[in-house]
Amino acid sequence: MVHRSTFQEILPRFLEFAGNDILAGHNIQSFDMKFLYRDCERFFQQTLTNDYVDTLKLGRLCYPNLRHHRLGDMAELYGISTEGAHRALSDCRMNQQVFERLAKELGKIGGGKTATKLCPNCGQPLMKRNGRYGEFWGCTGFPGCRYTENI
Ligand SMILES: [Zn+2]
Repeated sequence: MVHRSTFQEILPRFLEFAGNDILAGHNIQSFDMKFLYRDCERFFQQTLTNDYVDTLKLGRLCYPNLRHHRLGDMAELYGISTEGAHRALSDCRMNQQVFERLAKELGKIGGGKTATKLCPNCGQPLMKRNGRYGEFWGCTGFPGCRYTENI
């Protein structure tokens, strides 16, 4: 019999791999992050603190007139190969390429000038982050400085 690992067994390895990195994925806000928050709390009594970037949200932001913003739609828009779609590794690679293209697109829209709020504790800039209970200002000195502020 093949032993299929449970999520509870896999999760610590995933968390170790992720460290304090920003998690990126398509539709992760309403899907993956929900499971991650829930199971980190359920199995390890921990609140996941990683920020995340949802490429579905970015896609909607950059292309409000596009009818669908599924990962495959975004890949097609950019001429990225959709071969092997819905297989985990192919989807990851496709998602990474879509993420990179969207980031370039957002760079054009954003144009640099963002108001900078500074951390009252350590003086480093604050940035908007996504967390368990929505958006908040977090210190860029995280995890050294854990200052946060509601938006
Ligand atoms: Zn700080």
